[in-house]
Amino acid sequence: MSDFDFDVVVVGSLNLDLVVRAPRRPDGGETISGSEYAEYAGGKGLNQAVAAARSGASVALVGNVGADSAGDDLRSIVRGEGIDDRWLGTLDDAPTGRALITVDDRGENSIIVVAGANAGSVASDLPTGRVVLAQLETTVAGVVGAFARARHDGSTTMLNPAPAVALTDALLDLCDVLVPNEHEVDLLGGRDRVASRVEHLVITLGSRGADHVHADTTLHIDPFDVVPVDTTGAGDAFCGALASRIAAGDDMATALRYASAAGALATTRAGAVPSQPRFDEVRRLSGG
Ligand code: ADP
Repeated sequence: MSDFDFDVVVVGSLNLDLVVRAPRRPDGGETISGSEYAEYAGGKGLNQAVAAARSGASVALVGNVGADSAGDDLRSIVRGEGIDDRWLGTLDDAPTGRALITVDDRGENSIIVVAGANAGSVASDLPTGRVVLAQLETTVAGVVGAFARARHDGSTTMLNPAPAVALTDALLDLCDVLVPNEHEVDLLGGRDRVASRVEHLVITLGSRGADHVHADTTLHIDPFDVVPVDTTGAGDAFCGALASRIAAGDDMATALRYASAAGALATTRAGAVPSQPRFDEVRRLSGG
């Protein structure tokens, strides 16, 4: 087996999440009072990179921030987590990505994402990873380029197709592991169509756990019993944890059980990056 630079290379977004709590979401032209405001590090790429690193993987994050204080703060977080930032660019002509999130009293979210630097092109000379993991908050062209290179290197490619957009067959054909939620798999044409195109289809089902479709067989992964506080970042915890365990050599069933525990733990804490669990607590819950 050839050597890889990292266990997991994540190609993805970094955002500053601006989160406001309000009794309800305002109508057009209306001003209402919110009760709390907080800023968190987020973006699917950063969340998943942190999840993989906290599970013990060596990780590089490929993406872009802007030349502003939010970009500096996010880069310090990347470094503080022990994630390699040499392929994380700083763009002069675009601001750091931001997500404006309103959470109402029922816990429902409304989110507006301003891509900013995440829409820029990523470094072309990428490091190699045992697993190369991407989402869809950065450019599709960047993901296709990274996956084509990963296939050449003998890596395992994993795509979390979120936020939901229609995917080209060219990208689907480059995925070894595809991890959509129920809404995303419907948008891709339904589980049968998608399962026929990728080696491993993992559909996350929120509090109902997940399904793993492989070689015409569906295996259900049970959820772990937790009391959720904030479900933001659960899907990202699941993906980053799954990538780290596949890179460590676990079989899919073992890796998926670990990922399910990581997703459950992420719902028990607020924020996206702050809620990503660590190896020891995931192992305690998953009992592995
Ligand atoms: P997304 O946020 O991408 O839609 P999900 O909500 O499906 O992702 O969550 C990802 C995974 O996290 C699930 O497959 C499950 O394993 C775990 N999870 C999410 N919510 C809960 C919950 N309330 N209780 C237990 N596990 C959960």
